[in-house]
Amino acid sequence: MGLIENKLPDNIFTTTLDNVINWGRRSSMWPVTFGLACCAIEMMACGAAKYDLDRFGIIFRASPRQADVMIVAGTVTRKMAPVVRKVYDQMPAPKWVIAMGACATSGGIFNTYSTVQGVDDVIPVDFYIPGCPPRPEALYDALLALQEKIKKEKVVRA
Ligand code: SF4
Repeated sequence: MGLIENKLPDNIFTTTLDNVINWGRRSSMWPVTFGLACCAIEMMACGAAKYDLDRFGIIFRASPRQADVMIVAGTVTRKMAPVVRKVYDQMPAPKWVIAMGACATSGGIFNTYSTVQGVDDVIPVDFYIPGCPPRPEALYDALLALQEKIKKEKVVRA
């Protein structure tokens, strides 16, 4: 590594394709707008002026086809579950999912016939956020953890 870099002029550096691709992906995570219940209010607060997710390159998109992150914020009913799955399937890969709040992670207080007992019955989940509702800081924490996860992903296979 040192030998090559010694031969290069100033302002040129070497890196790996994995680093560059993962840097681009984690610096422009675009969550699909997808609020299901009260947790969505906390999610919206994250996007507003006080918490300002935009400064991390995290911008909510109204179309799943332009999104790579799904934040499931709220209660997932059995009626809504196929829609959650359809929206997830419409997102291009690679994609990641955050289950926000007790309802999305485990059904929460709604242990009833009409509520899915955790959205991971419907789609794969990368991060779970506890709380009813979780504060915006908790969503922040999950998004930053997701950035760290993306940073370590292997994109190029030898
Ligand atoms: S976890 Fe609590 S705040 Fe969030 S959707 Fe369920 S009931 Fe509402």
